[in-house]
Amino acid sequence: IPLIEFRGIGKRYGTGEAAFTALHSIDLTIHEGEFVAIMGPSGSGKSTAMNIIGALDRPSWGEYLFEGVHVENLSNDERAMLRRRYIGFVFQGFNLLPRTTALENVELPLLYRGLKRAERQKLAFAALDRVGLADWAHHTPAELSGGQQQRVAIARAIVIKPKLLLADEPTGSLDSARSIEIMKLLSDLNQTDGITVSLVTHEPDMAKFARRHIIFKDGHLVRDDRGLPGEGPQ
Ligand code: ADP
Ligand code: ADP
Repeated sequence: IPLIEFRGIGKRYGTGEAAFTALHSIDLTIHEGEFVAIMGPSGSGKSTAMNIIGALDRPSWGEYLFEGVHVENLSNDERAMLRRRYIGFVFQGFNLLPRTTALENVELPLLYRGLKRAERQKLAFAALDRVGLADWAHHTPAELSGGQQQRVAIARAIVIKPKLLLADEPTGSLDSARSIEIMKLLSDLNQTDGITVSLVTHEPDMAKFARRHIIFKDGHLVRDDRGLPGEGPQ
């Protein structure tokens, strides 16, 4: 069964005169192991779709199945549980706690697991090691470069061993060399660790790392290209 299945998903914000349909009826299937880039102009519905995929927001209509589970029927608490267990999030702005070390930031998602502190630290350290930051575990975000901060955020996202990694403009605050490093890391997490990655990006150079390109326009899915591995968007 697919990891992600949208069946006629729609999203409407507001009511009455002010109502706005951000997503029309979207059908979309993403299988485990895919690396998908979601693209399209500003306001086309990319973030709305990502928020629904990430179980952060509910659709207004349609069905959303995550590994066959009907997410649209879940309560807020149940969706929070699904996120904590299966989904890692990475954002443009890193969203790290400023006064805590990299290791402590990466430990945070494990606080719900009832693990002993030593066990949490071990898993967090392994995640930092995975992103190449073993030597920076005890530094605070301010002591790290932008690229390193985004690596900490990626370590925090993967420490739960998620099935799905959602990255919303993860390279939006980085220069192009650092951006490429981050995309190579996401690619490696996809290929080596088997994590399904869905990424929103405006930058064609970054989208090239994905093997499938989905284009939104005015709340519609207007294009879905599955290139050969290594091939960029047409
Ligand atoms: P994108 O990520 O492609 O820029 P979004 O999904 O953020 O697009 O937004 C799609 C449309 O929905 C935009 O016109 C935006 O103004 C509108 N929108 C997004 N969030 C809200 C909200 N919370 N309330 C009202 N309108 C919203
Ligand atoms: P504390 O801050 O509690 O003194 P550390 O930060 O030194 O503990 O270690 C946290 C966790 O990371 C521990 O479980 C430790 O085994 C592991 N760890 C720390 N440094 C390394 C390392 N160089 N190689 C492998 N594991 C390490």
